[in-house]
Amino acid sequence: MSKLYAISGGKYKEKCASMEKMQDAEYLDDALKYDGNDLGAIYGKDKTVFKLWAPTASGVRLNLYEKGDGGLPVEIVDMTAGEKGTWFCEKSGDLNGVYYTYSVTVGGHTNETVDLYARAAGVNGNRGMVIDLDATNPEGFENDIRPAFENATDAVIYEIHVRDLSSDASSGIRNIGKFLGFTETGAKNSDGLATGLDHIKDLGVTHIQILPSFDYATVDETKPDTAQFNWGYDPKNYNVPEGSYSTDPYHGEVRIKEMKQMVQALHANGIRVNMDVVFNHTYNIKDSWFQKTVPDYYYRKAGDSYSNASGCGNETASERAMMRKYIVDSVVYWAREYHIDGFRFDLMAVHDIDTMNAVRAALDEVDPTIMVYGEGWTADNAGIPSSEQALKRNMAKMEGVGAFSDDIRDAVKGNVFDALDRGFVNGRSGMEERIKFSIAGAVPHPQIMASPKENAGKSWAAAPSQSINYVSCHDNLTFWDKLAISNADDSEEIRIKMNKLGIAIVLTSQGVPFFQAGEEMLRSKPSDKSDTGFDENSYISPDSTNSIKWDGKAKAYDVYEYYKGLIAFRKAHGALRMTTAKDIQNNLVFMGGLDANVVAYIISNKPNNETAERLIVIFNANRNAVNIWLPSGEWDICVNGAAAGTAPIGTAAGSVSVDGISAMALVQGDSAIEKIMTGK
Ligand code: CA
Repeated sequence: MSKLYAISGGKYKEKCASMEKMQDAEYLDDALKYDGNDLGAIYGKDKTVFKLWAPTASGVRLNLYEKGDGGLPVEIVDMTAGEKGTWFCEKSGDLNGVYYTYSVTVGGHTNETVDLYARAAGVNGNRGMVIDLDATNPEGFENDIRPAFENATDAVIYEIHVRDLSSDASSGIRNIGKFLGFTETGAKNSDGLATGLDHIKDLGVTHIQILPSFDYATVDETKPDTAQFNWGYDPKNYNVPEGSYSTDPYHGEVRIKEMKQMVQALHANGIRVNMDVVFNHTYNIKDSWFQKTVPDYYYRKAGDSYSNASGCGNETASERAMMRKYIVDSVVYWAREYHIDGFRFDLMAVHDIDTMNAVRAALDEVDPTIMVYGEGWTADNAGIPSSEQALKRNMAKMEGVGAFSDDIRDAVKGNVFDALDRGFVNGRSGMEERIKFSIAGAVPHPQIMASPKENAGKSWAAAPSQSINYVSCHDNLTFWDKLAISNADDSEEIRIKMNKLGIAIVLTSQGVPFFQAGEEMLRSKPSDKSDTGFDENSYISPDSTNSIKWDGKAKAYDVYEYYKGLIAFRKAHGALRMTTAKDIQNNLVFMGGLDANVVAYIISNKPNNETAERLIVIFNANRNAVNIWLPSGEWDICVNGAAAGTAPIGTAAGSVSVDGISAMALVQGDSAIEKIMTGK
């Protein structure tokens, strides 16, 4: 527990039993937790009300500025101590577009800080801005609706950085590196093939997940023409969009409107928008608005130093009342104001279980189809007990919250921390049980043997919606680069087969499929600074490394079509999108008596109450073809090593030959089943 500066101002001083008690974060939580939903600058045409929670402050002043940077305050207003450690003041008049900061005096020091609840900011986020949010709505935004979506397992998530979409000239997109890049239709590469929004729509994904797009610290927004890049995992203002993604970072309303335009355009094209949120740490402590407002309250400590589960020098304390409230308030704000459809929590296990459940409950009030998931791990030891952390192994305690499956990621193509390590698709034997585990969406299944390796093969999901299945994301090597390193001796043709087999496993497994943008075009991040020739941590690498190279689409068109076909196949078959562990246990049966390095299963019995059909999926990781005996009747082949889609590309009965390093999916519809039942 941290010692805080004593509360020396406000009428609550008298209520404190002792000075010692006042210094505890626990005391602040017990006695001074503020439940109101009016923190920040609440704008009205006739007046704006400012309210800040700063229980350890002896005084707070509001500074009003004409601009978002430079110049002296045009007015300074003393704020009044209010209930539960809050400070407030009211300013009459229309303050839309007025910039502001607070000067918070704690322990004799005065810090100028941005309002933690600022909803708009000036350039580089150094001042908040009073904003008339209604006026930022693009035309028709009041009619914007979330595209139809029911269960988390119906999602196909496409992870993309705002800048990467359009920063290569081959994108043909005019708004380079901007939110508006996502609103452009008709963009084409040099071969005339669709890029950007049209490409994503044609691919058929249901959600994009944008890398951090709240205001982050490291890209200098005043230098738009200087080569700069960052993934954005260095939060500065949590409730403000990143300025460098707007066409004008100097006027706070522009970035808000343009981000809303992005969401609106994606929604209009049937695509939902999930946001990557990074509440687990701030870019540093010294300059953090948290620290300047209520020193040490928002961070966990380990002895005299700060606990560092984020690996970035600090970790926030979600178990504290006002940090938890802050996280909940922020996601609800993005969901309501920007119509954001889901939240991916960076290093989610830095947070406590109760906070993730509070996030889920609050978003259910907005719309229960909003997705919540994250990384069920940390970068280092956290300052709370592991039993309280939102770890992958504690997922059963977080209904409606998902976690990334590093199990499927590493089983398919090898461990991410060892570039040479191989998995099922690229030549490692003995991976069958781990692939089965992945296929079953990390829920318990009677046919899956617990792996002798600790934690591997130990079910952790209570429902398939909790398992986010992937082989690549922004972190680590791209799938294609990983194969180039682990299978350097194999031809490109063989590696494409491995890639296709890998994504076939992801897109047919129970759970929620996810992939990194461009994986469908063999995305690569070459680097001359790396021993391997590829960049496995491109967080600050140039556009030339990070951008999506749309001119690669023609060469990889067959791969693109395969991804598209698999997505369509998944969408067409509810059997691949079961919603409960029980359904999976009852309906998904793994076939026995198969060759080594082959996994096959059949799904029957009408899961999800859909039309009767039976489905067989086969994965052959051997270099040679294998013969698989089929249950009675004729089967339509919809997926093989060459092609994937909803229409049959062939039929089989009795047995089928599955090519080396390939997937196959076969379907038996109700008429075929009827034939078997009636013998006609
Ligand atoms: Ca910024």
